[in-house]
Amino acid sequence: MKTLDLVIFDLDGTLCPSDERLNRPYPEAAVRVLERRMGWSRQKAQQVFSDKHRELREQVGGKITNTRVLLQFFEEVSFQEYEQEVNRLLPVEQVLRPLALVVDAVSLVCGAYPTFLFTTNNEGATDRILRAIGLWSFFPPDRRFTVSHAGRLPLPRQEQLEHVKPSVKGFVRILETTGAGARQTLMVGDSETSDIRPAASLGMLTFKVSRVEDVGLLPAWLGLQGLSPAPA
Ligand SMILES: [Mg+2]
Repeated sequence: MKTLDLVIFDLDGTLCPSDERLNRPYPEAAVRVLERRMGWSRQKAQQVFSDKHRELREQVGGKITNTRVLLQFFEEVSFQEYEQEVNRLLPVEQVLRPLALVVDAVSLVCGAYPTFLFTTNNEGATDRILRAIGLWSFFPPDRRFTVSHAGRLPLPRQEQLEHVKPSVKGFVRILETTGAGARQTLMVGDSETSDIRPAASLGMLTFKVSRVEDVGLLPAWLGLQGLSPAPA
C-alpha cells in the first residue's frame, strides 16, 4: 500500500458522471445572471460570456469552468448570486444515482487515508451531488473546499479566485489545513487543466480519470485490494 498523507478528489467528472442535463445549467445560469446584473439582452449576455470563455480558455491553455469565467470577468456578480441561480436550474436528484463501483472504491480509499474534496462547484450543489451519489458521509462539510469557500475568504476578489482551480492556492490551503505534505498527497481528477497540472506543479502525485468508472481502478493502484471498505 502506498504511503500518503492525503488523497484529494475532484467532484464533477471524477466522482459523478458528466451529463448534459447537469452541464447545461452552468452557462445558462451565467447568462441569466449577466442579463439581470448588467441589464443586457440575452443575446448580448451569451455573446460576451462566450467571448470571455474563449479568452480564458486560451489564457490557461485548456478547458476552464463556466464558474471561473463568470467570477473572474464579472466582479458585479457575487459568488452567492451565481450559486443560487445554478442551484435553481440543476436537476441533481433526477439525474444522479449511486454507482456501486465508485462507492466501493471511495470507501476503500477513505478507510485507508485522510481524504478531501476540492471542487469548482458551489457548496449547495456539492452537498446535493454527494447525497445523490451516496458519498456524502465520506466527504462531510469539514472535508470540502468548494468555490463558495473561496468566496468567503477575507481577501480581495482576485485573491479569492486564486483559490479556485486551476490556480494553486486552493490546493496549498488544503495541504495547510490538513497538515499534509505535497509529495505525500495524491490528486484524483478528470481535468488535465484544473486537477492534474496544478497538483503536479506542487509536487503532488496525480491519478487522472477519463470516466467515473476509472475511480474503480484506484484501490488496486494504491495497493488497497483485499482491505475492507470503510463504513458509509
Ligand atoms: Mg472535474
